[in-house]
Amino acid sequence: MRDLEPDGPALETMMRLATELIAGVEREPASAYGDGRVTRAMLRPPPDHPGDLASLLTDVKAAAAEGVDTAGPGYLAYFPAGGLMSSALGELIAQVHNRFTSVAELAPALVAMEHGVLRWLCDRFALPPGSAGLTTTGGSTATLAALVAARHDRLGDDFHEGTLYVTEHTHYCVAKAARISGLAADRVRVVPAEGLRMDPGAAAELIAADRAAGLRPFLMVGTAGTTSTGTVDPLTALAGVARDEGLWFHVDAAYGGGFQLTSRGRARLAGVEHADSLVLDPHKSLFLQYGTGVLLVRDGRTLAAAHTGFGDYLQDLQGVEGLPDFGHLGPELTHEFRGLRMWLPLHLHGVAAFRDALDEKLDLAALVHRELSADPLFDLPWEPDLTVVPFRLHSGDAAGQRLLERINATGRIFLSSTRVDGRFYLRLNPTSHRTREHHVRDALALIRALARTN
Ligand SMILES: *Cc1c(COP(=O)(O)O)cnc(C)c1O
Repeated sequence: MRDLEPDGPALETMMRLATELIAGVEREPASAYGDGRVTRAMLRPPPDHPGDLASLLTDVKAAAAEGVDTAGPGYLAYFPAGGLMSSALGELIAQVHNRFTSVAELAPALVAMEHGVLRWLCDRFALPPGSAGLTTTGGSTATLAALVAARHDRLGDDFHEGTLYVTEHTHYCVAKAARISGLAADRVRVVPAEGLRMDPGAAAELIAADRAAGLRPFLMVGTAGTTSTGTVDPLTALAGVARDEGLWFHVDAAYGGGFQLTSRGRARLAGVEHADSLVLDPHKSLFLQYGTGVLLVRDGRTLAAAHTGFGDYLQDLQGVEGLPDFGHLGPELTHEFRGLRMWLPLHLHGVAAFRDALDEKLDLAALVHRELSADPLFDLPWEPDLTVVPFRLHSGDAAGQRLLERINATGRIFLSSTRVDGRFYLRLNPTSHRTREHHVRDALALIRALARTN
């Protein structure tokens, strides 16, 4: 029998690779695509005999080099976060321990670490005592758990006439969650938007009309930072409509939630404290690695009521006073211990370090908006609410598409695009903790130069 534990030198080799990766993160190209040979080689099945660790790690490095470097400072597309090394270390330690944190009794102090971070987040959003949180794989699964909790709380088992309210700018994970939870597509009602934001008056009218037609409005969805343009809905007004109409108020702050740590972010997210449920993605605006979403609910009992289950084989477990059993709050039973990847960076760097970094990102977005607005080639119709800056070329959509391709082909930065009101927008989002002012100034110089020869 061969031993399945790697030896000391093997562990050192792995740690050396991690150290090299972090040391090289500034120098790597923002994107790089080879001829496909590396990708094809990675499809090979595992051999029967042992491999050589050094050469396997060389494979890993080569595989990671194909595609877009989402960890580097030049990644300004979608939602950059960088990925904190301290979080990766926390994750390594958590995985080595491999404790079972689905039920508090088997790892009470580790569950307390995760619960402590979630309680702290509830406090940041001014949610009352009795609020509770759950970590998930991301915003989409957190939204699914929120939607099922809202549906169960407001409609019970007879939910087919239930309707929920979004705008065309709401992330599609809401409609997807509705479908998974058994609601027909036409139960997702699209409220008109004014200047990218849900119109609260129009929402109230649609709800009243739906009720008159025999439907059962149960859920209002506000977005704190839309995916395309980073726009925040009028949360206070939407919370008012939800309250008057007896609807559950959900806030999708998957992207915007982290900015609640800053005073500007709190001002822009005003009204979020009325949320019955709220989703944020630490893998976006708290700089963590992909795979960490958070759901917070005003009344923790609603989450448990919608998701709890029991198997006889769990009969030995009594629960621990004051700690949640995460395995009973969402769709997962086995719950990956995601606590340490948040707990370690927050406790190690301190909250002020996150606040300062997020403040810097808000400044960087304002800088991008100012500089590109001042350039006659570009059209920027919206001030950024947070850190997403959409812009287009006055010369049109085809020119914009060509500019995006030319920017990304340099391998120095990587941008993405979106479509609003049928028009093509490039989109620059400096939210990675690794993206600093000099990176953004270099990016602006590159974009402006290429736009002149476009
Ligand atoms: C990213 C995003 C989501 C989806 O989150 P995932 O973590 O990718 O599942 C939902 N809503 C908004 C506003 C987002 O930006």
